[in-house]
Amino acid sequence: MNRRDFFKIVATTGATAAVAGCQPATEQILPLVVPNEHLIPGVAAWFATVCRECPAGCGVLARNREGRVVKLEGNPDHPVNHGALCGRGQAALQGLYNPDRFAGPLRRDGDALRSLPWDDALKLFADKVTAARGANKARGIAVVTQLENGSAGVLADRFVQAIGARPRVTLEPFGFEAIRAANRQTFGRDAIPYYALQDAEVVISFGADFVETWLSNVDHARGFARMHTFRDGRAGTFFHVEPRQSLTASNADEWIRNAPGTEGATGADALTRIWVLAVAGFIAICAFSGFEATFSLFAGSRFDLTEGPVALIFFAVGVLLVFVQARLVGPVSGRLGPLGALQLGLLFNAAGLALLAVTRGWVLLVVALALLTIGQGLAIPNLTAAVADRAPNERRGEALGFQQRWQAMGRIVGPILAGALFEHVGVSAPYAVGAGLALVAMGVLVRAHGELTVAPVTGQLSGDASQA
Ligand code: SF4
Repeated sequence: MNRRDFFKIVATTGATAAVAGCQPATEQILPLVVPNEHLIPGVAAWFATVCRECPAGCGVLARNREGRVVKLEGNPDHPVNHGALCGRGQAALQGLYNPDRFAGPLRRDGDALRSLPWDDALKLFADKVTAARGANKARGIAVVTQLENGSAGVLADRFVQAIGARPRVTLEPFGFEAIRAANRQTFGRDAIPYYALQDAEVVISFGADFVETWLSNVDHARGFARMHTFRDGRAGTFFHVEPRQSLTASNADEWIRNAPGTEGATGADALTRIWVLAVAGFIAICAFSGFEATFSLFAGSRFDLTEGPVALIFFAVGVLLVFVQARLVGPVSGRLGPLGALQLGLLFNAAGLALLAVTRGWVLLVVALALLTIGQGLAIPNLTAAVADRAPNERRGEALGFQQRWQAMGRIVGPILAGALFEHVGVSAPYAVGAGLALVAMGVLVRAHGELTVAPVTGQLSGDASQA
């Protein structure tokens, strides 16, 4: 029995037990009675360490009682977390003492795992490695560790090199390799950025749940709280795009709820969608205004109609337009959605214009005009609704103005184009080209369907920086 064992026994059980101290069982039921030099029974000891629950690496002070860590606190002197710990860091003790945690080496035996003593395990390990190296199969050895980028990582790498195994594999569920790779490609630096949120006036986040889990959430929460707090007469503003109402979303001044996986489309973004719709609207208006500008010439040339009957036709078109907008737009839009109704309207436009280009009889003329009018009646209100749906709340007016500008341009370009075609190509040319333009507008919408169907639902949530 060595000196330490002796004192363990004597200190607690007295002389009688000292006699029995040679029994190994006594040693097991009285641990740490003679503690390590830096542990005093009854007095808490604090150890500075680092949280390993995520790659952020917050500084931790671990409270130790009689050899057991009983509480974790943030290290106030640590540059990452300045004394704070997130919920996961606080709960790290649950992992430390989890009964399901492996208490020692295990060996697979069929489907089961059987424990074996450390000496046996080390010998088995050494034998296996030696055998693999002897058979020139060291590259078949895989060394897997958790994220180790300090001296422990260097040690593991040197071991891997020494035995000639493949490079070490690191398992890190919170890995940010995609960000690292993006920075490598974009800036030529294999690095993860530091976000100085406290210095920002406006923060826009696309799916980065930075108060809860992302990168260094304790540091982000602190920076965000400073940025979002009313200081020097103003406070920062925060917009967040995320499908889930996370802690980050709940702290946003405006939370934009998107379909999962579409953060990029949402960001690339509302404006892209407005552009697509505006261009489609421009093409559609070009086609229809070309018809309006040249129809009286067309009707005179092909049907010998004078101004009076043409005016009556335009009157009928107007009445039908009112009817369509009053009675059809709502139900069709309700069933297909504004985007679907817009596409249906463009299809009707294309069909009406194509018929107009080929018609020589009255029946086809009436059908063509009806199709064209119904199409226009469906397309324009739904174009406006589609733009309004897809614009962020605070930019809806701007988006609608943008779309109206493109429509106005269509009203300028359409008649000029149709007049030139009528004059230089032929009577039917404006309508044949117009039908093609309406189909192009449809094609634009179909091609951008994926982006256009990401309609953000916005929710104003009260943001309180102190919650962060
Ligand atoms: S952010 Fe939380 S889990 Fe990650 S290191 Fe810091 S305290 Fe630990």
